[in-house]
Amino acid sequence: SSVFAGVPQGPEDPILGVTVAFNKDPSPVKVNLGVGAYRTEEGKPLVLNVVKRAELQMIKNPSLGKEYLPITGLADFNKLSAKLIFGADSPAIQENRVVTVQCLSGTGSLRVGGEFLARHYHERTIYIPQPTWGNHPKVFTLAGLTARSYRYYDPATRGLDFQGLLEDLSSAPEGAIVLLHACAHNPTGVDPTLDQWEQIRQLMRSKALLPFFDSAYQGFASGDLDKDAQSVRMFVADGGELLMAQSYAKNMGLYGERVGALSIVCGSADVAVKVESQLKLVIRPMYSNPPLHGATIVATILNNRDMFEEWTIELKGMANRIISMRQQLFNALNIRGTPGDWSHIIKQIGMFTFTGLNSDQVAFMRQEYHIYMTSDGRISMAGLSSRTVDHLANAIDAAVT
Ligand code: PLP
Repeated sequence: SSVFAGVPQGPEDPILGVTVAFNKDPSPVKVNLGVGAYRTEEGKPLVLNVVKRAELQMIKNPSLGKEYLPITGLADFNKLSAKLIFGADSPAIQENRVVTVQCLSGTGSLRVGGEFLARHYHERTIYIPQPTWGNHPKVFTLAGLTARSYRYYDPATRGLDFQGLLEDLSSAPEGAIVLLHACAHNPTGVDPTLDQWEQIRQLMRSKALLPFFDSAYQGFASGDLDKDAQSVRMFVADGGELLMAQSYAKNMGLYGERVGALSIVCGSADVAVKVESQLKLVIRPMYSNPPLHGATIVATILNNRDMFEEWTIELKGMANRIISMRQQLFNALNIRGTPGDWSHIIKQIGMFTFTGLNSDQVAFMRQEYHIYMTSDGRISMAGLSSRTVDHLANAIDAAVT
């Protein structure tokens, strides 16, 4: 007997559960398109060469130990992370209006930002896109905010529901928080154009809506770090305030190292100092201070011109392989004459394609073809390769005909 005998069995995570099911499948032809992690053309996980170089340098450096970091993390890492997302010449950084704290990857940054807002911001409602990364509503609700959604994706066009988005943000209460994917929206792969971003910015600023950017794919979407930060930089350039959650999981392949940063762009340097003091009070009782190793890798790479250059080349390589997989899948469906318009596969951006396949079709493909994806029809292009694209095209073709 156990004092925990009454504990009910919890459900599997809808995203991570796909991999659990995949691992149990003995089929030699199985393909996992559920996981949000990069795979090589050979289907293998990738450790970037520049990361290995940084780690070798770290091992040889006698001044690097295993001491605790401060509550806010590695100071160099924080400075360099803010520069990476906001731009080296960002006036907000120069005016000391940006406070950055190292957090446990993107998820931890969102959670710390959410907890800070729940304690110190006057409006507790956060608007998240419909659909969004499945963890968003849970992270923010447990942080103490109330999550509501705004229209984002239009299944009819497989594109942005821009009118719906503007209407929903227009009717949000003054001051509400709005979660925005900086680029490569997960799960849809649909981003606003720069013109649309500008309209979103104007509307949000006119209603004092507070932007909370989630940047999990900088450089991973287009292959260009600055291009993927354009949306964010528009909101910083107007002098207004915002929150930014950054992750190095995808763009440096540091998934399990849990390296990320939360930045808050404040109206003045005075405010930034006070905000930082409160972020420390959020973090200290939660996990005390963040891990050292991954942040040192990132700081080493960002601080060294030669390593930074190598990183951008490797990053572009990953982005280009994904873009090429989009073209290959699109071509394979065209060759088969698969019914429907599949042009969204090459239009969508980033790691995922939102195929438009329904949950029955997803279940059919798992059953008959051993292809694993989330039940919303999202496939990870990073998990696909030239060897598996025909198998996937056959499966989609059979599922829709
Ligand atoms: N935000 C989005 C939109 C994501 O897709 C992810 C990862 O899949 C994350 C945040 C957080 O990832 P991590 O906590 O691994 O940095």
